[in-house]
Amino acid sequence: MADLGGRVGSRRAEPPVRVTVVTMLPDRRLLLVHAHPDDESIGTGSTMAHYAATGAHVTLVTCTLGEEGEIHVPALAQLAAAEADQLGGYRIAELAEACAALGVTDHRFLGGAGRYRDSGMMGLATNDHPRAFWQADLDEAAGHLVEILREVRPQVLITYDPNGFYGHPDHIQAHRVAMRAVELAAAEGCAPAKVYWTAMPISVLEAGMTHFAESSDNPFAGIRDIADLPFGTPDAQIAARIDATDQHTAKEAAMRAHATQIPASSWLYSIAGNFGGEFMGVEFYTLAVGEKGPGAGPYGWEDDLFAGLSDETASDRRPVAAAGSR
Ligand SMILES: [Zn+2]
Repeated sequence: MADLGGRVGSRRAEPPVRVTVVTMLPDRRLLLVHAHPDDESIGTGSTMAHYAATGAHVTLVTCTLGEEGEIHVPALAQLAAAEADQLGGYRIAELAEACAALGVTDHRFLGGAGRYRDSGMMGLATNDHPRAFWQADLDEAAGHLVEILREVRPQVLITYDPNGFYGHPDHIQAHRVAMRAVELAAAEGCAPAKVYWTAMPISVLEAGMTHFAESSDNPFAGIRDIADLPFGTPDAQIAARIDATDQHTAKEAAMRAHATQIPASSWLYSIAGNFGGEFMGVEFYTLAVGEKGPGAGPYGWEDDLFAGLSDETASDRRPVAAAGSR
């Protein structure tokens, strides 16, 4: 930032000019808690792009820099944790590009960039790193999130289920931290009205298995039974189906921004080609906190995460945010 106070020839720089910026946030506010850069795009990218495009305020909180990720770009192999250990910093830029693709402008790292480190897969020595997110003090980590909840006052929060969707320690920890923060925020009256967990309906998995059974590019290869997968939710337990098919290209662009993590040859992209926009554009959630709004179909799935929330809920809690100086 330019030094607004400095002048050529002055003996001493004057203090910088302070400008207070006050911005009213939109009525509908959605906050997502994710473990690593790329989780937001793969799991909830279309939802984020959909709400950003329709005027909601979307806040992404990422808990780690993803330092322990694999690197799929050969030229960047030396960034790896075991080499220069610079992958985390590099992924900040990938995440910024992904957020731009999704139209999301409010992104933060829990406790600041680098406060918590990627713990690596369950059982690895990286779980024990002093800054590993897996080792985080729950209330301290939740406290960082409560600060953001206080400021943004989202009506809707999205995170993972207690198994972190598929068992990664940082995803499990993100779940714990988010749920603890909701509890702490409730005590001071600024909890979100609804909390959703990401989910994949069994029916969608079954359709995928059938569809790809004969494919040479079968993501279900080696899986004999849906029950063997680490995820999958009975359709009756799904609360919301967000159809953001019109945002599937934004999601794909956001995923491609995470080039170190997702090879261009990934089955994710070939599936997208085969299934069209639906694979990328439709995302599902279970409702963990709050009352389900009106929905449709055999299970009454909501088509909007804000369904059932009154306008008053939004305006009562509308915050004046971004008050600060620059
Ligand atoms: Zn992750």
